[in-house]
Amino acid sequence: MSLCRLHNERLQDALKKRDLWRLVKPERAKELAKRWLSGDMRNEGDFDPYVVCWLEIHAHAVELLRDFGPKSRACALCEVERQTRPGIASQWVDRFADLVWALAVKMGLAKPPRSGRSFISEAHLH
Ligand SMILES: [Zn+2]
Repeated sequence: MSLCRLHNERLQDALKKRDLWRLVKPERAKELAKRWLSGDMRNEGDFDPYVVCWLEIHAHAVELLRDFGPKSRACALCEVERQTRPGIASQWVDRFADLVWALAVKMGLAKPPRSGRSFISEAHLH
């Protein structure tokens, strides 16, 4: 599983825009990915918004795309665009960045949205 450089940058930008980049812990990425997948987060310190976005984007790609599995090497977001339509990748980036933002707010790690901007409802995420 991987993201190409362009889409990786887009995801980073989306997290920076939401002031979540400060929560990213590259040196613990593997451990935190395992914890997220196994539901074994001990506290908010085990939450890494980049890792969660990355895992969830791939999980959705595997679910939705043809010929795309956990072992696929293509960029999940390029593949989404190729199989659906241009512009979808940036919608996915925003959607998953909003998801981790909502989680971060719930955990007290980020500020709630200013009035006028609402979170996408969790129902949209399944
Ligand atoms: Zn890509």
